[in-house]
Amino acid sequence: MTNLVTIDSINRDIINCTRCERLVTYTRLVGKNKVKRFSNDEYWARPVTGFGDTQANVLIIGLAPGAHGANRTGRLFTGDHSGQWLMRALYETGFSNIPRSTSTDDGLILNNIFISSCIRCAPPSNKPLNSELANCSKYLIYEQELLKRVKVVITLGHISFLTYCKINDLRKLKFYHLANYRVNDRHLIASYHPSRHNTNTQRLTWEMWVKVFKLTKIILSNNN
Ligand code: SF4
Repeated sequence: MTNLVTIDSINRDIINCTRCERLVTYTRLVGKNKVKRFSNDEYWARPVTGFGDTQANVLIIGLAPGAHGANRTGRLFTGDHSGQWLMRALYETGFSNIPRSTSTDDGLILNNIFISSCIRCAPPSNKPLNSELANCSKYLIYEQELLKRVKVVITLGHISFLTYCKINDLRKLKFYHLANYRVNDRHLIASYHPSRHNTNTQRLTWEMWVKVFKLTKIILSNNN
């Protein structure tokens, strides 16, 4: 790790990052040209940091801030459909104090969880370029080095899974929902992303989704 040794210094670096010109332009544009339902909101429109418990045993890695979710509210999985699914599941399995995530002042407290993402700026159509993923992966590496107590990593979606494998030089692991790999001293669980597309098409059902967090609980209790 370089001189970025604390979560605050990592976060400062992320918030001020302008490395991917396409994404910086897009996130600002979305913040200016708001959708009607959020026309009264002041959009964050900048890179979004990870959040949660830095002593956590569980690290969740999403794909990217949602254009009108985290890019609006300034917190990952906050203010959009994916956030609703994630927080309800975390609440039902004892990983958070409330079942929703609507704004940075909603009172949400994560229990034993840190949430991050592969890329920190909202990409057009939720599709980051490989070069952008490569640019941003250093922040995930820094966080990973800082989060020393992590025992379970949950990757949401194929890209998150591949990104995690890439930064940890894990080869030949296959992505499928509820894949559970033991790698070094951690478990890696792969899950479909709780995007609107996946949940509306039933590719990811509520039952399949909650199983991810129930499995995490079992792994943690077997580790104690
Ligand atoms: S995606 Fe990551 S590397 Fe690119 S500008 Fe945003 S914070 Fe920086």
